[in-house]
Parts: sequence; structure tokens; C-alpha cells
Amino acid sequence: MWTSEKSQGVESQGVESRRVGSRRVRLLDFSTLDVSTLLLLAAFCLLPSARGLAAGWLYKVQEVQPNVFVWVADDVLDLDGDPQFDRAGTAGFIVTPEGVTVVNTTNSPFHGREVLYEIRHHSELPVRYVIDTDSSGEQILGNEVFTELQATLISSAKTQAEILNYRKLLARRLAVEDTDGKLQARMRGIHVTVPTQTFGSEMSLRLGGQEIKLRCLLNNGSGDDAVVYLPAAKVLFLGELFENQYFPRIDSRMVHDWIDALRQVEGWDVQVYVPGHGEPGGKKELAEFRQFLEWFEKEIETRFQEGKSLNEAKREIGPLLEKYRWHAPELASEAMEAVYKQMAKTVSSRDAAPPTVQAPLPVHPSVQSKQSVSAIPSGHIQ
Ligand SMILES: [Zn+2]
Repeated sequence: MWTSEKSQGVESQGVESRRVGSRRVRLLDFSTLDVSTLLLLAAFCLLPSARGLAAGWLYKVQEVQPNVFVWVADDVLDLDGDPQFDRAGTAGFIVTPEGVTVVNTTNSPFHGREVLYEIRHHSELPVRYVIDTDSSGEQILGNEVFTELQATLISSAKTQAEILNYRKLLARRLAVEDTDGKLQARMRGIHVTVPTQTFGSEMSLRLGGQEIKLRCLLNNGSGDDAVVYLPAAKVLFLGELFENQYFPRIDSRMVHDWIDALRQVEGWDVQVYVPGHGEPGGKKELAEFRQFLEWFEKEIETRFQEGKSLNEAKREIGPLLEKYRWHAPELASEAMEAVYKQMAKTVSSRDAAPPTVQAPLPVHPSVQSKQSVSAIPSGHIQ
């Protein structure tokens, strides 16, 4: 019997690697767990929702609205695939009488095939479209499974450029940096597959009566994230813009813009928000994540303004983060660094401006969100 739930506090203890099906994952060793944890795990395995677990799979599938499914990986670190993206992202699929649309393909073809396997439980029709919400390896490395089936791979032009860039960097890592051959071994049989159809800021698709709207949310040079909106089902796929009980990767996203974008979509006519990691949530879960980003930004900003170094800020904020009992806590340090650097950059660009020129006042988030509370404007069909 395997387990995959990596509960806080036991994550580094008794972790070992095993093979599940065709892939290796890092798992917990039962012999090092205490009795109460074992009892908890035993109870978990008896739950009907643990269907995937009982079959030896480390994920579950939820039908969040009729014919709209979400594939959620357990918190497992994969030992195959790119080590920079060792946690499979949450994926989704929409089944219609004319075919299937997939939203994000997780972090490897192995998981991509698991998604396909689940699709085949519900439809034998072709997968017509695959949408990548962003370029994170955790969301796109299963793409090749679906292009093999002749699906059209769609993303924003910016995401396409970022995936091409990732492919180039990966080739370099394999050719130059991989002196011990470990990356080569992990990436064997995995190909970075780039979207062939792109859109600028928005696009609409229609398949089997289901309208699917794609829209870039961070497009002011800040990140490359698009969202996928199903107006009839009231489902919004947010990709890496929303993490449910997982610490986020900040990457190049300006946190301020990110918070604005989340405020905006909180006002949309949506019942289910699908995250980049973790389970689907409602407005409450989305607001909790947005409030985390606000709190996080404020904590760093305060220390930055007090003239504290990045290391001082990290030392002080680290213990405060413990109140968030979230997955992927190892990402928090990198996230602090990213936000701190954004502040330093904002200040230095302000200092560089000639003294007579006033920098334009930033639009207050609440003002902006009030203007755009209404649902997504009707997109252009391309
Ligand atoms: Zn991710």
C-alpha cells in the first residue's frame, strides 16, 4: 500500500523513492511514522474519495460541474521529469458531444497520460483543444501526449514565447550543466511541446455548445498568465495565478498586478475556481489566497522600507509563515526573494526618473476592481 499525502511535520522523515506504475515518486516510509499518523492514513484509505489511491494512482478526479472535470495530483515529488517542476499541477478537461478540451497538462507525459486515461472513462471522442494557461513546467510538460492525438495546442503568444525559451534553456542545461547525467536520465522520453495556435489578449472557442473564453490577465509585462472561463458552467481555470493551500511561485509576476487580477476575478460570475496546484475552490478559497499575497507583500514592504536586508526580512517573516500550514513550504524563501527584488526594482526605477517629472500615481486596487466587477467582456472569436 502506498501513500502520498505529505502532511506537514513528517515530510523529510522516512521519505524514500518507489516506482508507481511506470514512474518513480518520493513517498513516505511507514516504518518511521507514529501510530496516530498510521491510523489517520488507514482511515483515509477507506474513504470513497480515495478511489485513485486504492488503484495505486496518486491523484483524484472531481466532476466540479456537469462534464467539467478536475484532475488533482497528491502532494508527491516526482523523481522523473524536470527537477525544477517536480510537483504535478492541477489539470482539467471539459467533455462535450463534439470532443474534449483539456486545460493544462501537468508536469510530465506520465501524468498527462493519467489525465487521458481519466478522459477515456467519460468520452471516446477526440481531444480537440489543449490550452496552456502559462509556461510553468508544472502545467505544460504533458502537452506531447495530446499533440500525438492531433489536438490543437493553444496559448497566449507570450506563453508560447516563454515555452520556447524554456525549451532552449533546458537544452542548455542538458548539454552544459548536466555533468553527472542525472537530468538526462530524468528527462528521457520527455519533449517540451510548444503551442501552435496563439492569441494576443483574448480568444473564444466553441465546442459542442460549450463556450470557452481565454483571456490574459497579467499583460503589462508581468507574467504570462491567461485564464480559461466557462460562462455557462461558471468555472474559471486560473492556472498558477491561484494556489489552493500551496505556497505560490512568484517568478516574474508583479505581486501588485497579481492581487488586482485576483480581485477582478473574484467579482466574476464563477462558482468554481480551479487552481494551479491543489483542489478546486470557491470564492472563499480564492479570497484567502489573495489575502495571503496582500499580507505577504505588506510584510516584505514594511521591512524593505525600514532598510532591512533580504536576509533580515527572511529571518523575520519565516516564522510568521508557519501559521500557513500549506504545501510546498520550500517555495516560500524564493517567493520572499522575488517580492523583495520587485520592491528594490520599483524604488530604483523611481529614483532614476528626473526630479521634475512626477511618476504617475498607481491606480488603487479597489478602484480598478470596482470598474471591472462585471463578467468578462465578450471576446472576439478568432
Ligand atoms: Zn506550479
